[in-house]
Amino acid sequence: MLQMFTLKFKCKDIGFDCGFVAKGKRLDEILAQCAMHAQRDHGMKPEDMTEELKNKISANTHRVLF
Ligand SMILES: [Zn+2]
Repeated sequence: MLQMFTLKFKCKDIGFDCGFVAKGKRLDEILAQCAMHAQRDHGMKPEDMTEELKNKISANTHRVLF
């Protein structure tokens, strides 16, 4: 049986006091949503999206079943 899952990342899991949740099928979708969110809501610049931060995001991205 095929199990459907989605990826979910919570901004607060990497230490922000923030209710943002990114959801997507693939990690790059999560990262793209986080990059947009970080720039819009945390005043970060594209160059602040470092490899270290991306690693932190992927480490805190979890699979959830539908
Ligand atoms: Zn946030």
